[in-house]
Amino acid sequence: MNYSFEPIGVIRSPYREKFGIPRQPSLVSAARMRLELLPPYDQPDCVRGLEAFSHVWIHFVFHQTMDRGWQPLVRPPRLGGNAKVGVFASRSTHRPNPLGLSLVELVSVSCDNGVALELAGADLLDGTPVLDIKPYIPFVEARPDAVGGFVDGPPPLLRVEWSETARSHLAELSPPKDFILLVEQVLAQDPRPAYQDDPERIYGVSLYRYNVRFGIAGGVARVLEILPAAQ
Ligand code: SAM
Repeated sequence: MNYSFEPIGVIRSPYREKFGIPRQPSLVSAARMRLELLPPYDQPDCVRGLEAFSHVWIHFVFHQTMDRGWQPLVRPPRLGGNAKVGVFASRSTHRPNPLGLSLVELVSVSCDNGVALELAGADLLDGTPVLDIKPYIPFVEARPDAVGGFVDGPPPLLRVEWSETARSHLAELSPPKDFILLVEQVLAQDPRPAYQDDPERIYGVSLYRYNVRFGIAGGVARVLEILPAAQ
């Protein structure tokens, strides 16, 4: 049996590469994105009534990594990068069917010029194809009594500091609203791979059209520079 699906929409996101995207939705509330519906779904009738919901499930394709296949065992970052669990006990992107599912805040629905949803807190790469949208139903789906396995709470956060150079770059570049909060929330998540702890290393994360360069030492992420991203 084979099934084929076509995208009903595409994500426009500040996350321009995988590195730096939070590992789950809702960890970075300052990440604002837009889900643009594609023809023939870009008609107001398809979203009529959706604006009454505060959150939606987004079903999507891990399109950037789908050609890398899958393994029965994976190493979740939350277990330090060494211990293995089954692929179906994880949220790994490398799955037999490369499908993702994220619960995100629905900020607004716009039908002015095509149909688009404004979303907050999503963990989605720019250009992600979306297969479906469903409203979140709290009385059925909110389960405060649920057990979270090896993911038993939010990850510890890093403190974030700005260098004088980075501050001067901010003043010159006039980045989008909430950019500072976005950078701070992204870096606080500690984007490094689980096994890396090199205080000398300089990393770069792409947000909007900027390359945010930073280092991490002693539980503190320090923003070093904000550069225009390479085209
Ligand atoms: N909450 C989702 C789920 O369980 O389906 C995602 C979990 S997965 C660990 C989250 C990661 O997916 C992000 O950190 C990002 O690196 C990656 N990601 C997001 N959009 C992607 C895309 N379109 N293609 C490949 N990887 C993507």
